[in-house]
Amino acid sequence: MDFNFTPEELAFRDEVRAFVDAELSPELRDKVLGGKRLSKDDFIGWHKTLYRKGWVAPNWPVEYGGTGWTAVQRHIFEEELADAGAPATLPFGLRMVAPVIMAFGSPAQKEYFLPRILSGEHWWCQGYSEPGSGSDLASLKTRAERQGEKYVVNGQKTWTTLGQHADWIFCLVRTNPEARKQEGISFLLIDMKTPGITVRPIIMLDGEHEVNEVWFDNVEVPVDNRVGEENKGWTYAKFLLGHERTGIAEIGRSKRWLKQLKQIATQQPASDGGKLIDDLRFRDRVAQVEIELMALEVTNLRVIAAEMEHKAPGPEASLLKIRGSEIQQTLSELMMLALGHDALPFQHAALDPGYDGPLAGPDYGPPLTGQYFNMRKTTIYGGSNEIQKNIISKMILGF
Ligand SMILES: Cc1cc2nc3c(=O)[nH]c(=O)nc-3n(C[C@H](O)[C@H](O)[C@H](O)COP(=O)(O)OP(=O)(O)OC[C@H]3O[C@@H](n4cnc5c(N)ncnc54)[C@H](O)[C@@H]3O)c2cc1C
Repeated sequence: MDFNFTPEELAFRDEVRAFVDAELSPELRDKVLGGKRLSKDDFIGWHKTLYRKGWVAPNWPVEYGGTGWTAVQRHIFEEELADAGAPATLPFGLRMVAPVIMAFGSPAQKEYFLPRILSGEHWWCQGYSEPGSGSDLASLKTRAERQGEKYVVNGQKTWTTLGQHADWIFCLVRTNPEARKQEGISFLLIDMKTPGITVRPIIMLDGEHEVNEVWFDNVEVPVDNRVGEENKGWTYAKFLLGHERTGIAEIGRSKRWLKQLKQIATQQPASDGGKLIDDLRFRDRVAQVEIELMALEVTNLRVIAAEMEHKAPGPEASLLKIRGSEIQQTLSELMMLALGHDALPFQHAALDPGYDGPLAGPDYGPPLTGQYFNMRKTTIYGGSNEIQKNIISKMILGF
């Protein structure tokens, strides 16, 4: 395998760099690089900028508005955007529900939803997990009772990421309580403005409002909003999870954090009075995580290449999820180690973009502490890492 970019690929990289230079505002770049809180408008604004350029959905087939790039181009694009400090596009519409609609949706669903996901008009969230049904997702209880041409939905979803902003939620619901648990589930697309839906915030360890509970009280959903067949939702749910797990590796962002870690280590003191970057034991740990990240990057390229040949991601998706999340956590831990006692005070207010109050340590400190708390989630969400190991064991090792 030749790891050098071809002249065409280098020209593409320059084109991406020029685009980001011209289109990403310094304010937004500083927010992302400085670890500040991003608003709904920040996410949507950047999504629309990419949309106008035709670059918002590199994972989509060209017929629906994808870019038609090679695996290497997609890799270059993701890496350049993450390195420059562009906000990540959100996965729920573009990389989760859209592939499901493309593969299993009705012509009317494709025609209505896909252009609106592409343009950023619809913000989506994911209604899979419930209290007591996370790893054991198939035990979910949210009930959808068929009444003529509509379903009446009752129940509760939880951990719904950014559901407070969402226009639509894709939900797994139980349509046949009598059947074996995987066989009684359907996949519904629900308008968040429908009467009977209540969104309640859950505040995370870092003090941020990132996840929610979503309650359904006699929510009426047209049968036309069901994807695919009734009671076959588990098949579509699993298809979606494969796509979710590949995106979770966040390699571009981890590379940016690695760079940031090295920069911080050139400023923070070591115990011998020198700089941390010269401390051999610290350098060892940085080198180790860098090697792991490089290995993950190559695996990711292989998965993207397979995806382009229309192979749905298999157990490799679990591998990417496990290694990607572990690397994100290791980097956030090394940042804490680098900060030393400056990591102890957590100044939540300093995550506000406009904060100019006093700081207990260097200005890069508070976002890193918040990030450390926030990264605890990575080994839990998208199917916990223990569950991913079970999948690998079953699918690769055969037991
Ligand atoms: C920040 C965050 C955002 C999230 N966003 C969303 C979202 O937008 N939409 C959504 O639907 N869900 C979301 N989730 C939910 C997420 O998918 C679940 O938290 C996850 O699947 C784990 O389920 P659980 O929390 O119920 O834990 P449990 O399933 O109760 O697991 C508890 C522990 O037991 C372990 N365990 C469970 N079963 C096994 C087993 N068979 N073998 C070995 N170990 C096992 C788990 O690994 C875990 O360590 C989010 C979660 C978090 C933390």
